[in-house]
Amino acid sequence: MIDLHAHTNCSDGSETPAELVALAAEIGLKAVAITDHDSVDGIPEALGAGRRYGVEVVPGVEIPLEFESFTLDMLGYFLCGVPSEEFRAQLEKLRHSRDERNIRILQILGELGYPLQPSELARVAGGEAVGRPHIGEAMRRHGYVETISEAFERFLSRGAPAYVDRRRLGLAPAIRLIRESGGVAVIAHPGIIRTDHAGLRRLVREAAHLGVVGMECSYPLYDEETEQRCRALATEFDLVATGGSDFHGSVKPAAHLGQGAGGRPIPDEVLDQLRTRCT
Ligand code: AMP
Ligand code: FE
Ligand code: ZN
Repeated sequence: MIDLHAHTNCSDGSETPAELVALAAEIGLKAVAITDHDSVDGIPEALGAGRRYGVEVVPGVEIPLEFESFTLDMLGYFLCGVPSEEFRAQLEKLRHSRDERNIRILQILGELGYPLQPSELARVAGGEAVGRPHIGEAMRRHGYVETISEAFERFLSRGAPAYVDRRRLGLAPAIRLIRESGGVAVIAHPGIIRTDHAGLRRLVREAAHLGVVGMECSYPLYDEETEQRCRALATEFDLVATGGSDFHGSVKPAAHLGQGAGGRPIPDEVLDQLRTRCT
């Protein structure tokens, strides 16, 4: 069993990289990918813990993109060695835009009668990539909401009153950046992208053409039909059907490490298949 999608407190997860790897060892995972949002800061600690616990740590990242009129996330795996200057600079820009967006969200929340100080956000967030889950947690601590999910539903989700978008990369530049860092690119949770099937198919076709090697076909939020639809597209475009839990620890209690669609495990072969696509 493996898990190819997990966050640490270097982005918006609740566990440190070492704690995440310890948990992976405890539940018997053979490998776990560290895929923090806009950050590769957790990778060295995770690799060290992986050696101690006998768990393979796949160095990864998750990057926000836009394609046509919709948004998606791209996963990068097997980023090797020291990230290039350009890669670091792009991640830094993405984090900076998040920070500016966070300030704007706090302004709107203040106007709505739910004031929060930027310093409170910093206290909630452990790492550098501060995001909406941290805002949700700060709201919970204030008693504005009971859960982070409620904060998303009432305020933070796209379409909700305090939603503000942030900088995103285009499909081609994102894939290029990941490949130039020695990595392979995989479309994150295609089944939850807000577009119709034709839009998803255009994305997958274009992504495959640009060098994407896989798409996440097992994911906790998928129903049977969504999983099958994703698997059919992966087969059509010769992509590896990967899987991951999108574990965030206590920030997202519904996601359990090592459990994909239907709570089922992700088989080791997926990682082997991904490895064969490394150039
Ligand atoms: P941000 O990167 O700041 O735009 O926030 C994205 C993060 O929010 C990701 O980690 C998502 O998993 C998380 N997220 C998005 N929607 C929800 C939701 N409804 N409930 C909890 N977390 C969510
Ligand atoms: Fe994501
Ligand atoms: Zn994620």
